[in-house]
This record gives sequence, structure tokens and C-alpha cells, in this order.
Amino acid sequence: MATHTSARISHWVNGKPTAGTSGRTSPVHNPATGQRTGEVDLASTEELDAVVASALVAQREWRHSSLSRRAAVLFAFRELLHNRTKDLAQIITSEHGKVLSDAAGEIARGLENVEFATGVPNLLKGGFSEQAATGVDVYSIRQPLGVVAGITPFNFPAMVPLWMCANAVACGNAFILKPSEKDPSASLFLAGLWKEAGLPDGVFSVVQGDKVAVDAILAHPDIQAVSFVGSTPIARYIYETGTAAGKRVQALGGAKNHALVLPDADVDMAADAVVSAAYGAAGERCMSLSVAVAVGAVADPLVDAISARLPKLVIGDGSDPDTDMGPLITAEHRDKVRGYIDEGEQAGATLVVDGREGDLPAEGFFLGTTLLDHVTADMSVYRDEIFGPVLSVVRVDTYEEGLALINSNTYANGVAIFTRDGGVARQFQFDVEVGMVGINVPIPVPVSYYSFGGWKSSLFGDTHMYGPEGISFYTRGKVVTSRWPDPATSSVDLGFPLTR
Ligand code: NAD
Repeated sequence: MATHTSARISHWVNGKPTAGTSGRTSPVHNPATGQRTGEVDLASTEELDAVVASALVAQREWRHSSLSRRAAVLFAFRELLHNRTKDLAQIITSEHGKVLSDAAGEIARGLENVEFATGVPNLLKGGFSEQAATGVDVYSIRQPLGVVAGITPFNFPAMVPLWMCANAVACGNAFILKPSEKDPSASLFLAGLWKEAGLPDGVFSVVQGDKVAVDAILAHPDIQAVSFVGSTPIARYIYETGTAAGKRVQALGGAKNHALVLPDADVDMAADAVVSAAYGAAGERCMSLSVAVAVGAVADPLVDAISARLPKLVIGDGSDPDTDMGPLITAEHRDKVRGYIDEGEQAGATLVVDGREGDLPAEGFFLGTTLLDHVTADMSVYRDEIFGPVLSVVRVDTYEEGLALINSNTYANGVAIFTRDGGVARQFQFDVEVGMVGINVPIPVPVSYYSFGGWKSSLFGDTHMYGPEGISFYTRGKVVTSRWPDPATSSVDLGFPLTR
């Protein structure tokens, strides 16, 4: 048997890797092999306090840096990230399990946020009203909050931190990242790139940890704002606890994303889109499609087209370029997803493709693709976020029935409609109560100059993430009303004549 080294994965404080002192660690695995590859430090409250102290000092300096200096750091960071995409993708795949091309894709979507933030001189422009009253001018400026924190999920260990930190740093804040303890190494790679890009030590820090670190962040009086992305129960907890402590909080939660497929849809196009969006990254995306709502006669051809595609997906180690779908994040999560398939079967859904069977790699946390038909709204496979490679098909008779189903779901992150009819698509965009809508686009993640966020229990707080709302979240507005003595009538001797 091969020997495997277990790396110690530390914090990043004041511009360098810093070993933990709490004595608590958590194991990190390669999900494709099941092997333990690392031990990540878990911060104590005292360790978090020390990081905040260094971030406070760094932020006082950083907020004085000119906008052009900040933009220069962001441009340098952008170049480094772009050039080192392959290295970072390998780190992501080795701890998350997603295929390398998907890991590179998440970095590309994160890079967009860095590119957006390079425009900080424009983004922080205020307004100016000359002569609001006689001799009085009014203008607005936006200033950084101070020290802010981001708490991120396992499923996008580079992209989600970049959603937050690019704008937070550009706006003049110091940013503390608390990544998922399941795949923590990407955070240290990003920290190294920030340093190489010229960001002063202490402006970007990483605190590895679990609930202890999170609770310390939520309670710390010098952390002004918390951005969170993760599951709905934790998002609710973060929002309620953080706001009760007087912080600004944006907390993005879980999802149950539907695709409404109308009878006039191009079935092959819809099936391709649904398969990639349901099974890509083994369904571990907050924008994964989890439910296909088939309207009328499209149901049979759609189910046939999806089930015909599934055997062609190659399941295996994500670092193999021939692999289409990697493993799930942990053995426990794989077993939980498997349990949902059991429940769906017992509740009377039709198992068209059963991911529990088939030829899967012997090691690692693998599960095959599952397609369940004739799913109904009372089944747990429909109600709960599964976060795995399981697609449910719900059959409805009309557009209205499909719309009502989607609008009655408690989650409202993303949704897609497949149709050839522009008028119906427009009606859907108007009617649907979901934050991000795709029209013949299965995963409508907004580009970085819009903002990302769901509705209902997919978002706690009122600010979406990144884009213009990100800039607003990480800054406070200040309005100045000014009056100067009128030089024409002033008693002060200017030493030169002034006429009006
Ligand atoms: P999670 O909620 O378990 O963990 C997210 C973060 O919270 C991690 O950093 C974790 O350490 C911390 N955490 C976990 N339990 C905690 C507790 N009891 N108290 C305090 N902190 C705790 O989520 P996950 O499993 O890492 O990620 C998957 C979830 O994230 C899914 O529900 C998915 O839909 C969601 N997600 C949402 C979005 C979005 O934009 N809405 C994006 C990505 C992921």
C-alpha cells in the first residue's frame, strides 16, 4: 500500500503561514481516493482575536492607500491568479474532487470579480450637487467599514472567497477569510498570491476553523461585517447572531433549483443543459438543477433524452482529464445523498437511473448519477436540498401549475425556463419568485458586474453578493454639506480683487 503524507494546513496571519496553537485539528481528504491528505488547524477564540488585532493595524494603513495603488495591486493579483490557474485548480480538485476543468472554471468566475474590482477608482465615485442652497454644495463619499470577514462553503473554495475579498480589499477594508475546513488549502494559495501582488501584510488573513472560529467572528466587536455563503440553517444562524451583535451581514443559503421545460422546448438542448447543470460537480453547486418540471407532452421525450445521456458520463478521479464527474465531498455526505434515493424510491418515485448501482471506483466517495421520475412535492427528494447527483422530474399539465410549484418552494436561488417562445419566457421572468433566472440557460450565475443572490430562504439580509451590491456592502456612505465664505463679500482681505 502506498504511503500518504498528511500535510498540516495552517492559518495565514500578517503575511505568512502561521501554525495553529489551539491543539485542535480536522482531517482533510482526497475524495477521489478516500485518503487523508492533511490536517487543518482549527482556530480558538484567542487566535481569532490575534488575527483581528493584526488586521486592524493593517486596515488603518490600507485605507490611506490611493485608489490607483489599490487598483495596481488588484491588477497584479489578477495576473498572478490567471497565470497560476492550473496550480490552484489542482489544489481544488485534490481536496474537493471536482474535475480539473470545472476547478479552472470556478477560478475563471472568481477572476471576473477581481477584474470588476480593478475598477475601484470608478466604483467608489460619489455624487456632487453644486449650489444645493446658495453657496452650499453637497457631496457623497463611500468609505471602508474596517475589518470584515467572509465565511465560505466547501463547494467553491476559490470562487466564493473571491466573490467577497476582491471588492472588500479594493474598497479599503482588511478581509479575514474563514474557509470550509473540508478543503482549506485553496485559501492559503490565494493568500500567497495577494502577498505576491503587493497587498500589505494583514490586509488579507486566513483563519482556519469550525464553529468556534465562526462564533468568535460573530462576537468580535472589531469585525464590522460578515459575508457568508453556505447552507440555509447556518446562513440563518449567521444572520441572526451577526446582526444581533450589530454587524452588517449578508448570508447566502441553500437552494433547490428548478428547470421549467415547456412543450415547445428544443428537447436535445434542454437535456444537454439539464444534464450538465444537474450532474456537473456531482450536483454540489448552489446553482445545480435539482428538479426538472416537465410540462405536458415534453415529459417522456425529456426523460428519455436525459437517461440516454447519463451512461455516457465518465465517473472517476477529477484529476483524470477523461472524467466528467468526480466524487462527493465526504463519505458521510455520499451516504446522506444515497439515503435520499432510498427515500424517493420508497415514496413511489420511478427510478429511471439508479446511482447506487453500477461500476464505480472502489475507493473514494463516489456515487453514480440518479434520475427519478414522477416525483411529487411531498417527497423528501423534492422538498430538501440534496446537494448530490440526483435529478427529480416532476410532471405537470400546464405552465401555471409549474410556476405555482416553483413559487411555493421555500428556496429561491436560481431557476431556468426552456422554451422557444419569447413571450412566455418574458412572462416567466416577470412571474417567477426567484433571485436569478435563466432563459434557455441552466445555470444563470450573474456576471461580476451584476450581483448574485437568491430570494426567500436562499438569502438572509438584503444585499446580494459581489458586483455593485458588493461595493455597497463593503462601504459606508457619507454625505458632506459644505459652505465657504463668499469671497466677493468676505471681510477677509484676499490680497487681490475679486468680482462676480
Ligand atoms: P455549511 O453551511 O455546512 O458550511 C458553510 C460554512 O459554515 C463553513 O465555513 C463551515 O465551517 C461553517 N459552519 C458549518 N457548520 C457551522 C455551525 N454549526 N456553526 C457555525 N459555522 C458553521 O455549507 P457547506 O456544506 O460547506 O456548503 C454547501 C451549502 O452551501 C449548500 O447548502 C449550498 O447550497 C450552499 N451554497 C450556497 C451558495 C449561494 O450562493 N447561495 C453558494 C455555494 C454554496
